[in-house]
Formats: sequence, structure tokens, C-alpha cells
Amino acid sequence: MTTAPIGDGTRAVRAGLPEPVKNQPTLPGPVFASHFHLPGEVEGPYTYARDTNPTWTLLERAVGELEAPGADGVETVVFASGMAAVSAVLLSQVRAGDTVVLPDDGYQALPLVAAQLEAYGVHVRTAPTAGDAQLEVLDGARLLWIESPSNPGLEVCDIRRLAEAAHAAGTLVAVDNTLATPLGQRPLELGADFAVASGTKGLTGHGDLLLGYVSCRDAELAARVRQWRKIIGAIPGPMEAWLAHRSLATLQLRTHRQWANALAVAEALEGRPDVSGLRYPGLPGDPSYKTAGRQMRGPGSVVSFTLSDRARADRFLRALTLVEDATSFGGVRSTAERRGRWGGDAVPEGFIRFSAGAEDTADLVADVLRALDAAGRDRPETADPARGVSEPE
Ligand SMILES: *Cc1c(COP(=O)(O)O)cnc(C)c1O
Repeated sequence: MTTAPIGDGTRAVRAGLPEPVKNQPTLPGPVFASHFHLPGEVEGPYTYARDTNPTWTLLERAVGELEAPGADGVETVVFASGMAAVSAVLLSQVRAGDTVVLPDDGYQALPLVAAQLEAYGVHVRTAPTAGDAQLEVLDGARLLWIESPSNPGLEVCDIRRLAEAAHAAGTLVAVDNTLATPLGQRPLELGADFAVASGTKGLTGHGDLLLGYVSCRDAELAARVRQWRKIIGAIPGPMEAWLAHRSLATLQLRTHRQWANALAVAEALEGRPDVSGLRYPGLPGDPSYKTAGRQMRGPGSVVSFTLSDRARADRFLRALTLVEDATSFGGVRSTAERRGRWGGDAVPEGFIRFSAGAEDTADLVADVLRALDAAGRDRPETADPARGVSEPE
């Protein structure tokens, strides 16, 4: 192994690989086991597969290398989903009577966790991500939860500033790093105690598995998170863990193309009179641009914007040919959705969350512009009654 500093792409293709063994594969296949041979005393790393699995070990090492390259003592714990990882931090680090600060514009399942925390006697305070407004409600908190950039509003806060203020008051800091991926942002280097993410999205990028992880600054914090996984049992299957590890090799290739495509789409949308509320942290005119530029290594693959109303947004989504109408984001195939259809996010009816995939940039931009034009035409799908046939909705 070389000790010279290496680039993100080099790190991604090698992340978590074991020392080469003659006649063995580079990345060992998934280990399917519920238990391991254990004669006599309970010892060794692998005993029962709710606690540990060799396939997780390699993936945890890989994610740790990406989240905190070269850092000592960072430990990563993988979970069955992003929400399993989010809940593991929030529920393992606080107890009744503690106060937790959440963003009020975070991932849509976060309020469900907040309600559960309150049912357990934890006080929950919320404030917007933008303007570092969470600083105002930090007083006496046990844990600060940051989501930057936020999903789906793409607001960004100054993570280093918030972490410093929190630590000065003895408050733990967790950052949801789902949208950025560890190639786009390294929360532990910005001062967070926990980098938490859904690996379902850009990290693995193929839309074929659910995964979550928590990277912890030190072993003591990690031990509680690992204990929580043992209690709740929200463990990833070996196949998912192996697929995720396999996908990490292309993380830089995927994210770089997807960021370039997201920027191209955002730039194409910028001048359009039919688009309002355009947000992309990589656009120089965006309110998040400055802070994102300071703390992020890439602005992400998600662009959000608003069309005049629900019907126009639906016409836009139907007119796209290279972009699937689907939730989730960060995959190699572009997706978009009218976010308001779920309820739960404070967004206008015509709000679109657009996730740029790895298509050729010109193809993707052309498809988006053509679909916008089609959506703007006066109800082109209306049937001509004289012809007696109805066009598809
Ligand atoms: C999707 C998402 C999650 C939840 O991840 P799952 O893998 O779907 O459980 C958490 N946080 C953010 C920001 C997300 O986008």
C-alpha cells in the first residue's frame, strides 16, 4: 500500500478491499450465514450474524475510508435502510428529559421520529436549515441533527459553525449526508460526531437496494450505535451489503457525471419563464451557493423547481422520456417527481424534485426542455371529440 495521498476516484475503487490473497477474488462475495462455527468459548469477530458479518465488515471499512479518509478511530455501522441509521443515532444517544434539535425542513420521515422521541419523553425543538437558524434553539440540547443540503428544499447550513457552537455547549452533532454522498461532503471533517446517510440513494446509485450507515468520530459513540443495531436488528442482508460495496467502485464516475448533469439542467431551467423557485447549490445565484462552495466537494445531483400548478407539473412528468416519474434520487437513471403527492413536505403543488442521472448531458437537457414545452402547451392531451378517440392521460 502506498502512503502518498490519493484522489477520490482512486480511493473509491479500492475502498474497503482486503489485502489480496492468491487465487481469491478482489472483493470477496457475500457471506450468507446466520451463525458461524463457534466451538467452545464465545470469541472471535464472527459469532452470530445479527451482530457481525464479514461482508458488512468490508463495506463498513469502505464507507469509513470515504467519509473520513486517513482519520484514526472512525467507525462505521451499516444498517438495513437510511431510516434505520437515522433512528439508531437519535434513539441510542438520547434519553427521557433530553432535548434534541431537528431541522423543520428535513427528510419527510423525520417528523415521525420526532413524534416517537416525544412519546419517550424527549423534548424536540425544530428550526429551519437556512440561515443557520438551528443555532437559536441549541441551548441545553443533547443532540443537534443537521440535514445539509436538505431534502427536498436544498437548503444548506454552515456545518462547521453549527458544530462549533454545539460542541462548546456539550451538544453532540449528527449530519444527514445522504444528498451529498461522502464524495460531495465529509461531515466528520467539518466537526460532526456522526455522519449518517441513506445508502439507498447516490451512494449505491442503481435504485436496486436499501441501505443505511452511521460513521462515528470515536469508538465509544459507535459502540452505542452498534448496540442499538443489535437490539433492533435492522441489519442489511449480505447481498445488499455486497452490492453496495461493488457499487462504491464507480462512486466518483457516477457522482461526477450526475453533478455535471444536474448543473446543466439547472442552467437550462434558469432562464425559463415557466420555472420558479429553482434551487441548486451549484448555481452561482443560489442562496446556498457560497456556503455549499466552502464546505462541499460537489453540489449533488438533485435540482428542485416549481411549475405553475399541479396539472402542469403532471404534464411535464408525463412528457419526459428519459426521466422516470419515481421517488428516491441519486441513481444513474434520472428520476423526477411531484413531491407534493406524498404530503408531508411544505412544498407548492407544482414543486418538482429532479434527480439527474448519468445520461449524456445533451440528451437529458433536451428531454427536460422538450417536456417543459409540452407541459406549457394548452392541454395537448385533450381528446378531439370529433375523432371519438381519447388520447392517453
Ligand atoms: C431517503 C432518505 C432517508 C431515508 O433513507 P431510506 O434508505 O429510504 O430509509 C434519510 N434521509 C434523507 C435525507 C433521505 O433522502
